[in-house]
Amino acid sequence: MKKTSFLTLEKAREIIAQIPTPFHIYDEAGIRQRARDLKDAFSWNPGFKEYFAVKATPNPYILKILKEEGCGCDCSSYTELLLAEAVGVTGHEIMFSSNVTPEEDMRKAYTLGAYINLDDATHVEFLERITGGKVPETVCLRYNPGGSFSLGNTIMDMPRDAKYGMTEDQMAGAINRLMALGTKHFGIHAFLASNTTTNEYYPQLAANLFRLAIRLRNATGAHISFVNLSGGVGVDYRPEQPCCDIAAIGAGVQREYNSILVPQGMDDIAIYTELGRFMLAPFGHLVSTVLHQKHIYREYIGLDACAANLMRPAMYGSYHHITVLGKEDAILDHVYDVTGGLCENNDKFAIERSLPEIDIGDILVLHDTGAHGFSMGYNYNGKLRSAEVLLKPDGSFQLIRRAETPQDYFATLDGTQFHFSS
Ligand SMILES: *Cc1c(COP(=O)(O)O)cnc(C)c1O
Repeated sequence: MKKTSFLTLEKAREIIAQIPTPFHIYDEAGIRQRARDLKDAFSWNPGFKEYFAVKATPNPYILKILKEEGCGCDCSSYTELLLAEAVGVTGHEIMFSSNVTPEEDMRKAYTLGAYINLDDATHVEFLERITGGKVPETVCLRYNPGGSFSLGNTIMDMPRDAKYGMTEDQMAGAINRLMALGTKHFGIHAFLASNTTTNEYYPQLAANLFRLAIRLRNATGAHISFVNLSGGVGVDYRPEQPCCDIAAIGAGVQREYNSILVPQGMDDIAIYTELGRFMLAPFGHLVSTVLHQKHIYREYIGLDACAANLMRPAMYGSYHHITVLGKEDAILDHVYDVTGGLCENNDKFAIERSLPEIDIGDILVLHDTGAHGFSMGYNYNGKLRSAEVLLKPDGSFQLIRRAETPQDYFATLDGTQFHFSS
């Protein structure tokens, strides 16, 4: 499918007149529609709730929009918990899915009344110590099935090589210990494949977790109150890629629920998700201006954005589609490497990409940067984090995070010993 930007050249120019590039911009209407489509897809399950993976887009304005659409927050660190708290997301609206958890993080999650998702069996004792033995009434446990995880003939991932979760035996042991301490209800969680583009990932994962829920109930007598399918539903970064159909995914999970859980009388289990990418990626763009062109052994386009603003291409070789605003219908008769200015040759947003002829000053949109985009930013080479902008349904826009300044960059250094001019 042809990828189009939610920004026109005209709108981009209007914004850039006030907020210079580079910046990340988010499409509020798209985000709200996506949250509603997800809710509809799981409306057959009365307890359904999406806990948005805060790490994907840790901006309180975004979290607030999602809260208004009924979503909670999936947090994995102290600061992510503070972000949730700041937008009024507390108690069971928070899923705390952490690993290698520091004590203060666990204590904060407990104080907020979050659902705590334990990554390891040894964390039962950790939780017991932190809570003075007053463990929560409901606790979630993260499962690692080991081996490989396949859909049909395709190996999706290798859980046996993953650091997360615990074995089934360890889960049963953790449940027994927690029940002795007073925990009454249990959730089970697993994240077995990332950025999947098949509609069968969630149904297959759900089937595995539903069967596990039955075995754990039979082994321990515990009440399983929810199954957390975590993240992993992907998006079509490439125009020719298939796109997940969330209605079909929801129906697939319902099919497994009805055939596995309902006959066991376990039809009070709520389904939770912790989607990040699926919720936000398509509704964010990185907007950047062409600063330079160079002609050596290849043709290069140099942007005012770099990998510090969007790490995925440098880190994973990820494809992000590029639209040259105002040249949407021009023929793609030029081949460019599109780069940032880091002193790292992997700072390339695109390699040998067919694009229309590009001129200095053109405005480029990098697609699908709404999740794991800004949030993976860093300060290498003294590059500063960009602004974030919200495009509202009525076409107006709001700065929801200003760009970093040199003073922000120096803020953690000792200003009494060194003077930094701005
Ligand atoms: C990263 C992560 C998610 C979100 O993953 P997406 O691929 O963005 O959907 C959810 N839960 C946990 C525990 C994660 O680590």
